[in-house]
Amino acid sequence: MPQPCGNFQRVDTLQQLVERDRDHDCDGFGPHHICVRVEAVARLPSRFGSFHIVAFWNNRDGKEHIAMVHGEVMGSEDVPTRLHSECLTGDVMGSLRCDCRDQLEVAMQKIGAMERGLVLYMRQEGRGIGLINKVRAYALQDLGLDTIDANLALGFRDDERDYEIAAHMLASLNVGSIRLMTNNPRKIQELRELGTKVNGRIPHVIPATEWNRFYLETKARRSGHQIEFEKKPHLPEQDDPVIIEGQG
Ligand SMILES: [Zn+2]
Ligand SMILES: [Zn+2]
Repeated sequence: MPQPCGNFQRVDTLQQLVERDRDHDCDGFGPHHICVRVEAVARLPSRFGSFHIVAFWNNRDGKEHIAMVHGEVMGSEDVPTRLHSECLTGDVMGSLRCDCRDQLEVAMQKIGAMERGLVLYMRQEGRGIGLINKVRAYALQDLGLDTIDANLALGFRDDERDYEIAAHMLASLNVGSIRLMTNNPRKIQELRELGTKVNGRIPHVIPATEWNRFYLETKARRSGHQIEFEKKPHLPEQDDPVIIEGQG
């Protein structure tokens, strides 16, 4: 069972988290002992609604994770929460090799329209192997050979770390309990085992557009993990099975 991480003194505002965490250091949640602390907070108006951005830093693996906070989440219960793993090619460039951007935008839109909610954006590009290796794996797939190696490279990720860091971030933010926006019940189980109070699940339903329809239907048909893009298999960064609006 998890060691309760540090003592997360309750403060009144997001800005006060920076001062509170100034000397924070703990054993983290779970076996990798990754500890994060709030380094900076600012308003971040977005096309999806008004948010604050909370920037976390840690001295274990150098990753700078962020929480996008909408409304009052500190001390709140049942806070709608989405975990998203960074995907530069999808989130920023609009790659159609994956559905990461759709998953992120839909989560931001939905949460931005709610009274409160959170998107935790985990900086673990390419399932933790980094951008260059991800592009290398794509290149292997483009060649139509070594798909096994490409898969191995893309699958080279320790998924547990997402949940450990997320559990720490939620505790750092003094969130009382969450409802997780996911189609993957395993995520809820993982977070609960790390001591996060998960009071329910919000299905993550993605509307099909002319851009993503074929991809989403293929992913839905093929159960999420081993899917094909132009006949070349790869592993998705976001491990949520997809639910398409208006189907099933
Ligand atoms: Zn810590
Ligand atoms: Zn992606």
